Amino acid sequence: DTSVFKLESFEDNYEAGDDIGSGHFAVVRRCTHRKTGQAFAAKFIRKRRGGGRKGAKMEEIVKEINILRCIDHPNVISLHEVYDTKMEVILVLELVSGGELFEYISEKEALSEEEASSFIKQILEGVKHLHDNKIVHLDLKPENIMLLNHNSTNIKLIDFGLARRLTDQEDMRAMMGTAEFIAPEVVSYEPLSLATDMWSIGVITYILLSGSSPFLGDSQQETYHNITALNYEFDHDLFHNTSELAQDFIDKLFIRNPRKRSTVHDCLNHPWIKPVEDKEAIARRSAMINIDNFKSFMARKRWRQSMRVVSLCNRLSRSIQLRKSTDTLSSRTTMSSRNTLDEETSQEGAGSAG
Ligand code: ATP
Repeated sequence: DTSVFKLESFEDNYEAGDDIGSGHFAVVRRCTHRKTGQAFAAKFIRKRRGGGRKGAKMEEIVKEINILRCIDHPNVISLHEVYDTKMEVILVLELVSGGELFEYISEKEALSEEEASSFIKQILEGVKHLHDNKIVHLDLKPENIMLLNHNSTNIKLIDFGLARRLTDQEDMRAMMGTAEFIAPEVVSYEPLSLATDMWSIGVITYILLSGSSPFLGDSQQETYHNITALNYEFDHDLFHNTSELAQDFIDKLFIRNPRKRSTVHDCLNHPWIKPVEDKEAIARRSAMINIDNFKSFMARKRWRQSMRVVSLCNRLSRSIQLRKSTDTLSSRTTMSSRNTLDEETSQEGAGSAG
C-alpha cells in the first residue's frame, strides 16, 4: 500500500536543514515545513537499486512505513508524511531533539531508582502501545531511546527499521539486532515474539542501574554464549546500592523461555514500577543507580564510537590510494574493490548480529 506517498515534491513543502543523525542506509536531517514553520525530522532512506547491496529494499521501507502509520502514542515517534523520489524515500517524522536518554543521565550527579524507574516506565508505556498493536520493535537499545527536547524528560522510542507486525499464521525467525541486547531466541534462531522486546528491556534496565552490560563478552561469540547460557550476575561491587525490587524486575525478564518471561503488562504492574506498599516506595527512593560506573560506561561507548570512525576513515583512505594505484586496471577490477569496501563499512557501521 503506497497511498500514503505524497505526490508533490519534498523540497516544495519543506526546507531541509542540518544533519541530525544517520543509520545504515539513512540520513536524518532537521527540516522546516515552509507554510507553517513547524520543525520535523526528515529520514532520507536510500533505495536499493537492481541487485546491489547498497540501500534498503523497497519492501523493507514499506514495512517500516506501515508500522509507523499504526502508531499514535506520546512515547513513540510519529510519522507525518512520506515522499518518494527516484533514489530515496523520505519519511517526515516528529522531531526529537533532546538527545539520547543515556547521554542525558550520564550528565547527572546522581539518580535514584525512583527516577530511573520512571524512565523505564515510559519505555514500557511506549512498548505497551506497540505490543497492543502486535508490533514487535526488535531493536530496543539505548541509541533508540530519546528525549523529546531539552526541557522535557518525555521519552520517545525511535527506529522502526527492524520492527515487525506479528501475525498468527507466520512463524518469524531472524538473526538481527545488536548482540548485547538480543534475546536467546534471536541467537538460537527460534521463533520471535513480543517477549523478545522484553528481554532487551531487561538489558537496558541492568545497564541503567549499574553501568555494566550483563552479557557482553570479549567477542560476539562469547556474548552469544553468555546470552543463551543466561550467564549474568548482580556483582556486589556494581550493585551494592541497588534494591532487591529492581533485581527482581530484571530476573523476571532474563528468562530463557519467552512464554515465562514478564510481559509488558507484568512489568507495568511490578512493584518496582508501581509500588503498592510504603516499604516498596521507600526502597526505590533510597536506592541509587551506580552513576560513577554509568558515566564511565558512556565514556567507553563514546570512545568506541570515535575509534570506529577513525578505522572507517583509514579504510577509506587506503581504498582511495588503492584505486589511484590501480588506475590502469580495468573498470571491472575497480568495481569489485568498491564492493569489498561496502561490505566492510556496512558491517562496521552496524555492529549488528545479522
Ligand atoms: P540503523 O541503521 O541504526 O538501524 P536507521 O537507518 O534505521 O538506523 P534511525 O535509527 O531511524 O535510522 O535514525 C538514525 C539516527 O537519526 C538516530 O540514531 C537518531 O540519532 C536520528 N534520528 C532518527 N529519527 C529521529 C527523529 N525523529 N528526530 C531526531 N533524530 C532522529
